Amino acid sequence: MKVLKFGGTSLGSHKAISNALSILLNRINKEEKIIVVVSAFSGITDQLIALSDSNQSKRSQEILQSIKSRHVEIINHFFNKTEQQSVLQQFYDLYNELIRALQLISQNREEPNKNQDYISGFGERFSAQIITSLLESNNINALYTDTRNLIKTNDDFGFAKVEKKISYQNISDYYQKNSDSIIVATGFIASTIDGIPTTLGRGGSDYTASLFAAAISAEALEIWTDVDGLMTADPDKVNSAVTLDHISYKNAEGFSKYGAKVIYPPTIVPAMKYDIPIYIKNTFKPELNGTLIHNKPIDSSNTIFGISSIQNVNLITVRPDNIEYLSEILPNLLCKEDLEAKILECKTDEKTVKIVFSTPNISESLLIIERAIQDLFGKQMPNYEISKNLSMITLIGNLADKSEAKNLITEINSIYDGAVKSTIYSEELETISIFTENTDENRIVNHLHELFITKEMTVNT
Ligand code: ADP
Ligand code: ASP
Ligand code: MG
Repeated sequence: MKVLKFGGTSLGSHKAISNALSILLNRINKEEKIIVVVSAFSGITDQLIALSDSNQSKRSQEILQSIKSRHVEIINHFFNKTEQQSVLQQFYDLYNELIRALQLISQNREEPNKNQDYISGFGERFSAQIITSLLESNNINALYTDTRNLIKTNDDFGFAKVEKKISYQNISDYYQKNSDSIIVATGFIASTIDGIPTTLGRGGSDYTASLFAAAISAEALEIWTDVDGLMTADPDKVNSAVTLDHISYKNAEGFSKYGAKVIYPPTIVPAMKYDIPIYIKNTFKPELNGTLIHNKPIDSSNTIFGISSIQNVNLITVRPDNIEYLSEILPNLLCKEDLEAKILECKTDEKTVKIVFSTPNISESLLIIERAIQDLFGKQMPNYEISKNLSMITLIGNLADKSEAKNLITEINSIYDGAVKSTIYSEELETISIFTENTDENRIVNHLHELFITKEMTVNT
């Protein structure tokens, strides 16, 4: 059994949908057992989020019109006249539920994140219905599957935490019961135990697919997208980026945690736990091998084989006098999960605790952290500084050796002189992150890529 996930980019146009369909039919004709997980058609989730935030009826009408015509146009293109009626009917049933849901939330704006999760999940429901019908029209016994009934989470709306045990059980039971059908599941969406809709975070369909793969001990997880695989850097930022043949789970986690959108960070964990290989493949070039993510380290003599970057992160550097604070108290206080700030990284070195976070509501998060520091130190506030809107550029590689990593940091500091504001070394993921002004990001990412990858590259090619 393999789980195949198609992202929004693989479902964004007629060409993309045709390609996704022929990849599926090809597998089914070869009698491969597959489960399909789909994202919303590209751009639809953004529109739904805008809808749930909007009070302006004129703007909402425009967005609704655009969502409707996009889906209706796809249905008209892919189905013949006889099929169209029932597929359109299904679409309109769901579309009318969306209209009713919008009316409902306009009367209760107290829980915007809860409302947003309900509304933003319609994209996957629309697309999964259409892809199911498309398989049916090709004589495949396909089964539309609303994952809100299977994947259970807490109520952290927008970024809900999955209750793995019960979700795995639900998925596995459902799969056993429906083993004769091709399951076509909605990515991204889930619900609380009480059935309130939640989402797994932006880009979360990859994670849905990984949960399915883990629950049924799949042979492989395939993430179908719009690039040739996991590349040495974001191809939108670095022209000379090349595709990696294979990479370890740990390195892939480094790539995604620090900015490579091609795979959503939590995706790695379930697959890694059950040793399920992940393939990143290009929907537009299915003949290519793509990238294999598995439990073997990269067989390369060079140290660095990838760069990720994230813009607009905020860095807090705390410098306490009391060294004890460093080892335990501060990390426990500031790095705890329930801190409302979205913490990307929290690291202690000999002299400082560095906390990196990226959240839309920056001032609120800063306040929470400042308060936490004040609560702990009272009048004796430790020295701390806040740097806003930096770029976090991360090198991924064979960096298990701490002293080698330190030497590399010294080298990088000397190359870029004052442009590097701070650095963090992560022993767990074997990465080095450097912080620069946003305006320096592009230049430094490209230069580092040239220096450490293009010139040195012998990586598994
Ligand atoms: P999907 O809609 O299929 O989920 P995403 O847009 O979420 O696709 O992810 C694919 C995008 O990730 C690519 O188009 C590329 O711009 C971006 N990306 C960022 N870093 C990398 C990287 N290191 N390798 C490949 N793609 C990357
Ligand atoms: N459709 C969702 C999003 O745009 C989930 C995904 O694409 O993986 O974030
Ligand atoms: Mg994605």
